[in-house]
Amino acid sequence: MYSLYRMTSIHWRAILIGTLAAIFSVASNPLRADEPIRVHWYETRGITPDPQAELDWSKASYWIARLQNQVELTVFNGGPQVGPDRDALLSAVSRWVSSTKPGERTGGVLVLDGQGESRQKMAARVDLQPAAEKPRLELEPLSIDERIDLNARDQSTPEWRPQYAFMHSGFPSGIEAYCEPNAAVCSTLFAALGPILTKPASRLITIASGSDRFAFHALTRDTQDESKRLTVRYLGAGVVTTVAPPEGFEEKDGIDVRLESFRARGEPDAPWQVTGTRNLPREERTAVKYAALSYLESGTRNAHADIAWPVGTLGKPMLYALRFLPDNKTVTAQTLGPMQLPLRCDLRRTPGFPRNAALGPTADWLRHRYPAIHPSGRTSEELIANAQELIDAKAGDPAWFRDNYRLAVLGPRRADIRLAEVHELPAEQRGGLKRFTTEELHTLECVLEAMGDRLLARMRDTVLIRQAASEVGSPFGELAKQVVLAGHTFTRTQEVSEPSPHRQVHSTIVIYDAAAPPATRFIGGRDNDGSVYAYAPMAQVMAHEFGHVIASRASLGDQFYKWVAESDTEPFTRYAASNPQTEFFPEAFALYLLDPGWIQVNYPDLFVRARAYASRPPDHW
Ligand SMILES: [Zn+2]
Repeated sequence: MYSLYRMTSIHWRAILIGTLAAIFSVASNPLRADEPIRVHWYETRGITPDPQAELDWSKASYWIARLQNQVELTVFNGGPQVGPDRDALLSAVSRWVSSTKPGERTGGVLVLDGQGESRQKMAARVDLQPAAEKPRLELEPLSIDERIDLNARDQSTPEWRPQYAFMHSGFPSGIEAYCEPNAAVCSTLFAALGPILTKPASRLITIASGSDRFAFHALTRDTQDESKRLTVRYLGAGVVTTVAPPEGFEEKDGIDVRLESFRARGEPDAPWQVTGTRNLPREERTAVKYAALSYLESGTRNAHADIAWPVGTLGKPMLYALRFLPDNKTVTAQTLGPMQLPLRCDLRRTPGFPRNAALGPTADWLRHRYPAIHPSGRTSEELIANAQELIDAKAGDPAWFRDNYRLAVLGPRRADIRLAEVHELPAEQRGGLKRFTTEELHTLECVLEAMGDRLLARMRDTVLIRQAASEVGSPFGELAKQVVLAGHTFTRTQEVSEPSPHRQVHSTIVIYDAAAPPATRFIGGRDNDGSVYAYAPMAQVMAHEFGHVIASRASLGDQFYKWVAESDTEPFTRYAASNPQTEFFPEAFALYLLDPGWIQVNYPDLFVRARAYASRPPDHW
């Protein structure tokens, strides 16, 4: 039996295979380069993405939230209202606030450094005042085209009034009260502005007068109305401070706010973080963090999750491997590349495939493994390519599985007879029988390609049936509330006397709709040669049920459970843990077939055992 934990909503059931370039590799993991970090669990749940929530969170500014934690914030209109420029400024201001002395009023003009060639510079007028609970910060963002630094004229200058009209704001107690005692400063300012009145721009002007510094913002507009051409704003006394955003500021968004405020019971009071997303485009980074947060909130820890996540609203799913490491509260993300469509498997992954063999041995192997096709080619490569084409063309048809593997993929009418006559199921358990889709049969082909010849021989005469939903409830305790049946293997054993006395096992695998869930998962990873392979979640259900078939036909299952007891190995999927006496073996079997790399890293003893099994006399674990 195979049940899925109900958490899913995006639909696909295709197979991914491809040789995709790696963006990150295990070796580039910053935590530890040489020794693999093991996790206990393989996460089999999918996450229900909520594209709107993802979008909203990603648009929310991390730095606004961060500043609001630090200060009582008042932001005046000005500068860009959204986007990376604004985040650069906000992050730099947040950093500046951290650097100020608590309990002192401070402020002035902050100019953002490190904006490269961009024409407009970000700046802000800030006024930070101590208060009872947290300090109050007034923040007025400014976009600056040009910065002008001047020295005040001779202090004896009496006349400051310009010969042109202008508007003014921000002068303490009004412009007269400011400019009378500071006539030299005002005179310098308006003299500098005169020649550039008709050149529209936003300018930051500083004027040094003795040991004093004053800052002004002059906005000149292109307008016929000369009285509205210039607005002069007094920004304050004091130095202009150059500030820079902290490194990596642009990686943060509203999802980080949630990540940092996420606290699970019993965990050390430190924020979770996601690493490995640094080089990703913003929308992918957002998607990965969103997925990581969703898993964290649903309780995933000490686990590996293979996710296939749609990037943006119309984006193609991308493959990522996430690991949830509880010790340092870190989720590592590894990018495996885009999902390739249409998705087919690769016969070169078949165990026993003769790599780099000459034409003769390649042809022999293909004849033996794929008796139902007759590929041609003048070289091994041509032969393999032609075989792959023939398999891809045939694998959507149930007849292929009969001809090549001696497996029976039944349509609804024959399925009904099989379930009634061999397994004696009542009519109410035989409703909703249907056909496998072409894509589902390609998935089946991929599962079979993951099996070596001995395993395949053991699967012979298995019957596969597709049914909408199961009438069978899950028998497993409280967890049953969350699970829905995805597959089931019916087994009937008969003692047969002819030609010689032996046991005959009739196995029927039923795959239910829940096995083709709207899933954001895949199963697979990176092969030893660096290529990425991935199976749809239904492959895991199929492989799991084949695990039940072999356990009923050979003593492999019994030997596995004996080894599990001796080696103290704990189940590593939720489903295996829900009923370890019967479900651990099929779960381990499925993972070994479809994600051997994961078993190799996380359960190396089991991997060695399973690999040895493949080269030993039949059924010896
Ligand atoms: Zn099962």
